[in-house]
Amino acid sequence: MAVLPVLTWGDPRLKKNSEDVGAWTPELEQLVADLFETSLHEEGVGLAAPQVGVNLNLAVIDCSCGEDPEQKLVLINPEITKEEGSQVGPEGCLSIPGIREVLERPQKVTLRNRTRDGAWEEQIGEDLKARAFCHEIDHLRGRLFVEYFGPVKRQILQKKYLKQARG
Ligand SMILES: [Zn+2]
Repeated sequence: MAVLPVLTWGDPRLKKNSEDVGAWTPELEQLVADLFETSLHEEGVGLAAPQVGVNLNLAVIDCSCGEDPEQKLVLINPEITKEEGSQVGPEGCLSIPGIREVLERPQKVTLRNRTRDGAWEEQIGEDLKARAFCHEIDHLRGRLFVEYFGPVKRQILQKKYLKQARG
């Protein structure tokens, strides 16, 4: 396993649409292991393949931050099929270190997700997990969470982010 470099806000590769994962391979299994390792290292609850420069519809989620192996979840070609309720809370992104902002998301999200062997399964997430589902799937569509804010707020966040990034 390896900690991979994470692309940051402003990198054009984060804005690309991703392609569906095809047949499962040992290389993909390695990528999944590296994504979990990188997410854990950065103390995140999830990481999408495009964040490490791989434009595939693949992401990992672990809302326990490495505490509970049962909570490790691999999203493969996921599609949101149902959104219910709403939650308002802080959100951050490993590609935008140092920035956390309050964002409204659905409280409960149902996904159609592929398994490694090519079958389809349903995944349901509530609260933090629902937020992680939405956040990671946005990455697969080339969208960062700061893009939900208007241009003025986005500019303020970008200044703050760049100032921090420069140290
Ligand atoms: Zn993110």
